[in-house]
Amino acid sequence: MAKHTIVLIPGDGIGPEVTSAARRVIEAAGLQVEWVELPAGATALEQGHDNVLPQRTLAAIKAHKVALKGPVTTPVGKGFRSVNVQLRQALTLYAAVRPVRSLNGIKTKYDNVDMVIIRENTEGLYSGIENEVVAGVVTSLKVATELACTRIARYAFRYATRRGRKKITVFHKANIMKMTDGLFLNCARKIHEDEYPNIEYEELIIDAGCMKLIQDPTKFDVLLMENLYGDLVSDLCAGLVGGLGVVPGANIGDDAAVFEAVHGSAPDIAGKGIANPLAVIMSAVMMLNHMHEEGIAQKIKNAYNAVLADGKTLTRDLGGTAGTNEFTDALVAKLK
Ligand code: NAD
Repeated sequence: MAKHTIVLIPGDGIGPEVTSAARRVIEAAGLQVEWVELPAGATALEQGHDNVLPQRTLAAIKAHKVALKGPVTTPVGKGFRSVNVQLRQALTLYAAVRPVRSLNGIKTKYDNVDMVIIRENTEGLYSGIENEVVAGVVTSLKVATELACTRIARYAFRYATRRGRKKITVFHKANIMKMTDGLFLNCARKIHEDEYPNIEYEELIIDAGCMKLIQDPTKFDVLLMENLYGDLVSDLCAGLVGGLGVVPGANIGDDAAVFEAVHGSAPDIAGKGIANPLAVIMSAVMMLNHMHEEGIAQKIKNAYNAVLADGKTLTRDLGGTAGTNEFTDALVAKLK
């Protein structure tokens, strides 16, 4: 087996705990790997870098093309610009792909949830263009470009076609944001009509869409939406299958891909050894598939499914009492 080089960004808060668990699992599953560990986020500043996204980190992802990343903390209402937004824009990681699935052994209100959220990752209100017009009046600019809207729509339809998915639902608010969300819809419609009429296509105004998601998430297949909606709907959907501890993600571009859980740095539980590492481990499975290491990916998937199914070593967010290490030990034992 060829040796892979993967950039590992531990991140902030629970990031180092959950990424080191993922690293252990990947190695135990037999991947030949050289890790290039580099900082981002508040940790980078603590380590003496003058930037939350050091050039070395960015350059390593460009060079090696694949990274596994822990969450990073972003100050609320002040301070530096989100590292995630900077990273996604700098590397044009235009598609966030977030599978949301029911897992055996995790009891929730719904069975058989199996959806994939595809979120535009480079523009919208995350462009970070905010201005004070006059004292007491501020604006935030929502940016939509035909290029990015078409690019994400084409990605979603291609993804759906390759994965044998049947339907794409676009969540939007084009009744209010007629130009920006209107452009997003027009681009999605055009890609559907011109390139992928094989996929069923549906549009829902996002408020009604959220209600329908809660009523019966099994009616949805692939969800396509712009940046902010994708962020919110990802956490909402996580809540339908057991929470943020079980929803992985990938940020995909044409030249690089960064794999990370949907969850954040969880400062409330950081350093306590109780974070669920599964979402990052599931993100690592997506990464291994992306690297064409499907055998190792499947081995890890079988192992975590077995741990969840026997239910003895669940972390607290899933109703158990296990810590991060205990859960990881149980998973590694199933790999043997
Ligand atoms: P969060 O996702 O960090 O936490 C929300 C809740 O879920 C908390 O109660 C937390 O304890 C729990 N939780 C999250 N992950 C968990 C896990 N693996 N195991 C068990 N419980 C878990 O969201 P937040 O509190 O809104 O944000 C905290 C920080 O994370 C903020 O600075 C935010 O900007 C950042 N953030 C970063 C990313 C990223 O780097 N990709 C994503 C989201 C939020």
